[in-house]
Parts: sequence; C-alpha cells; structure tokens
Amino acid sequence: MKLTNIRFFYLQMVAHAALFYIVIFGSWVNLLVAFGIAVILLLFSSTIIYHRFLSHRSWPAPRWFEIISTIIGIFSFTGSSVVRTLSHRYHHAYSDTEKDPHSPRYNSIFYTYFPMLKENRYNSMLVKDLLQDKFHVFIHKHYLKIILLTWLVSLSTIGPVWTCAVFLAPGAICWMNISMCNIRCHWGNKEDPIKQSRLLAWATFGEGYHRYHHDKPTDANFGGKNIDPGYYAIKFILFLDQFNKPSTRI
Ligand SMILES: [Zn+2]
Ligand SMILES: [Zn+2]
Repeated sequence: MKLTNIRFFYLQMVAHAALFYIVIFGSWVNLLVAFGIAVILLLFSSTIIYHRFLSHRSWPAPRWFEIISTIIGIFSFTGSSVVRTLSHRYHHAYSDTEKDPHSPRYNSIFYTYFPMLKENRYNSMLVKDLLQDKFHVFIHKHYLKIILLTWLVSLSTIGPVWTCAVFLAPGAICWMNISMCNIRCHWGNKEDPIKQSRLLAWATFGEGYHRYHHDKPTDANFGGKNIDPGYYAIKFILFLDQFNKPSTRI
C-alpha cells in the first residue's frame, strides 16, 4: 500500500490555514470551540481508538465507541483508520530506522512533520485485521468524499468562520499535537533515541510517556506508575459501556 498522498497534505494545508484564519480574524469563542473539539478528537479518538485500540489492540473497546470515534477521528485529518494504523504499526516495527515513517533522525523536521510527502510503500498485510472489517474498509474508500461532503454541507449551513472552527482548525491542532510527540520523543542520541516527557504527556493525553509505550506497546496505560489521562478516558468508556449491556436480572 502506498502511503504518499498529496491530497492528504492539501487537507492539512487547508486545516492549518483555517486555524491561522480564526486566530487572526475569528473571535475567542471560535478559538475556544476549535480547541475544545481538538481535545475531544485527541483524547477520545486519536489516542484511545486510533492508537491504543486499532494500532495495538491494548483494550477491549466497545464496537459502538469504535465506530463513533473512528468517524469523528476522520476530522483530525491523520489518514483513514487503515492508513493511520498501518503507518503506526510500521513506526513500532522499524522505530528510528530508515523504514520508520516519521523518524527525525532520517528526515528533516519538515518531512517528519509532513511524512505524507515522502514516497513510502508498506505491506498491507500489517493491517489485515482492518482490511477484513467492512466498516474500516468503507471509511478508507470514502475518506476524502466524507470530508468534502461535510465541508460542503457545513459551509452552506453554519458559514465559513464556524466551518473553520468546527471542521477544519481542530484537525490542524491535532496534527501539531501528534507531530510534536513524534518529533520530540524520538529526538535523542543514537543509543537511546526514545524519550519520556511528563509535560508532553499531559499535553498529549498520555502519548508523551513514549519510552514506556515503546517498551510495552500492548499496555493500555501508557503512564505505568504515572497518571495517564488517556487511560482514565478508557476507564470512563468501559464504565459507560456497562449500561449498554443487557441486564441479567429477571
Ligand atoms: Zn514512537
Ligand atoms: Zn504506539
């Protein structure tokens, strides 16, 4: 599977432009809404579904939450669930080597920030599980169409400024947050390139506990003995899921 996708780069360019637009021309309310949505995308979609569940299967995510979270995660513009999982599984399999999709050791900061500009071909067998799941295949096939259609409906209903705040700028904030972790946490010496940052962990809802995560990728709790906000979000979803199960009482 080829991961280079210039259209995907353009999506992020539009999202980044929208963020700068509302910073300069929008109101504080627009900006607060964009950051609020970015928090939801990062916490309930990016880290606990796309990363911890789809890439590592580290917790038993309820199917209803997997579906909702995958759909809202489309608007973080980090690629379809299939593409993002494939890229991340490669990152773990080939960390800090030339095959790593976003290693700051082998790429400039610009290409680490926009790895989709590099020609990369990956073995899709690594995401065989997702390619057997009709829901994820549908999202993968129609990824761009879903985004463009949503933008069109949003522009004609809530207008350009709120479209920027709700459906565009949050994707750029997510991208900055995830890339900050990819760059900072792999910016180390040759012998020990993977870093742990408690400060970054709070800003990324646990992703900054990167050393621990690379050592134990199937542990849903990235923090180990430290407080991991993402792990508390998982506990909250599992708590909610209890009410979705049929009662066994007569
Ligand atoms: Zn990493
Ligand atoms: Zn991982």
